[in-house]
Amino acid sequence: MDSTAAHEPVVIIGGGQAGIQVADSLRAEGFAGSITIVNDEPGNPYQRPPLSKDYLAVDAPAEPLPLRGAEFFADKDIVLLQDTSAAAVDTVARRVTLSDGNTLAYGHLVFATGATNRALPCPGASLPGVHALRSLSDAEALQEALAEARNVVVIGAGFIGLEFAAGARARGLRVTVLEFAPRPMGRALSSTMSDWFTARHLADGIDLRLNEGVAAIHEDGAGLSVESTTGARYAADLVLYGVGVTPRTELAESAGLPLENGIVVDQSLRTSVEGVLAVGDCASFPNIHTGARTRLESVQNATDQGRHAARSILGASAPYTDTPWFWSTQGPIRLQIAGISAPGDHPVLLGDPSGGKFSIALLRAGVLAAVESVNAPADHISARKIVGLGLVVSPEALTAPGFNLKAFAKEALATPA
Ligand SMILES: Cc1cc2nc3c(=O)[nH]c(=O)nc-3n(C[C@H](O)[C@H](O)[C@H](O)COP(=O)(O)OP(=O)(O)OC[C@H]3O[C@@H](n4cnc5c(N)ncnc54)[C@H](O)[C@@H]3O)c2cc1C
Repeated sequence: MDSTAAHEPVVIIGGGQAGIQVADSLRAEGFAGSITIVNDEPGNPYQRPPLSKDYLAVDAPAEPLPLRGAEFFADKDIVLLQDTSAAAVDTVARRVTLSDGNTLAYGHLVFATGATNRALPCPGASLPGVHALRSLSDAEALQEALAEARNVVVIGAGFIGLEFAAGARARGLRVTVLEFAPRPMGRALSSTMSDWFTARHLADGIDLRLNEGVAAIHEDGAGLSVESTTGARYAADLVLYGVGVTPRTELAESAGLPLENGIVVDQSLRTSVEGVLAVGDCASFPNIHTGARTRLESVQNATDQGRHAARSILGASAPYTDTPWFWSTQGPIRLQIAGISAPGDHPVLLGDPSGGKFSIALLRAGVLAAVESVNAPADHISARKIVGLGLVVSPEALTAPGFNLKAFAKEALATPA
């Protein structure tokens, strides 16, 4: 550990998945200086993934799942400022001004400000009964609305829209999903997997309408109705939209940090300003897996970058190379993705989709770039290892009788490079 870095105060803006991990990892790595987390949300920091899944079920847990136990902050001597925003950053004086007027001096500053939901760009988007989902208070409002709802319209067949749709359907509600693109989760999934999800959600009774966007939302006294780009109207007493997110970069921008769809960081997650780093949903980093600057929205990325940033603060300069992975739970379907696929990847089916348990391996120039698994956790775990090692696998090997990702990973790990 670099001796100056061992004591200078660290200030973390954002008490989400990434920010809390930075603080936890700093202590785990032996950092002895002061750590302050500034979080604009009230209460104990919580996990977001359950908010669109278990937390909306009829028998939902009463409390959100905390990111760390109640004693964590006191035990680790970490100051958590709740319900407090970082309002300005002076990177020359190395000082953060808070919404309550107080200031905090820092040796290192970490932006872990996350993302914010993209607004729905249509008339009627702010009518009562139209919801978005990002925070615990959003989920609480939805939980209440679901208890009264019969007809639900979801705008956007991305992960959050479909998780919500599957949950609402499991409660017996009538659910229509409008998606202006030709397939669901199109930005993240191979077309083979998107198509499988389309068929599955339709079979489960979700009215998934592709190539159909929203034109306007109306309120006519009897309730809401969603008018689509085809001119059709869908009655709703609850509308949920999930049309993507944008990184929260306003503060970084006003502090003069370079932005490029997120706060620009180098391979060590440092910005170009001395002592300032960025992690998680708000950070745009050079991704060795794709060769392109990337911003990822996942728990894996937030936690692994949190760990990495802590080591960077303590003087390490290794590049961030962790393998990306992601999951989504849509009713009884557990989707897990290792790696990042791209259009043009060669898909190879592993297993039998009709049994609801299979994987799709995506090859790029012979290398396994990504694996999408449905209810096949053993495939996923093995895929993370294989993708992480960047192993070359031929389509012939993948389709050979008896091929198994687990056995392949085991053998590859046992063979010295
Ligand atoms: C409903 C939902 C379901 C999800 N499901 C999954 C899933 O199944 N799998 C998966 O991998 N990922 C999932 N994600 C994504 C995952 O939760 C995020 O990628 C992760 O939380 C990012 O962590 P973060 O710390 O970068 O941002 P966040 O967790 O969003 O934390 C950022 C925090 O910073 C605060 N903040 C911002 N600006 C300021 C400021 N100026 N001052 C003080 N505080 C500030 C914010 O209010 C927020 O609390 C889901 C996200 C949502 C919303």
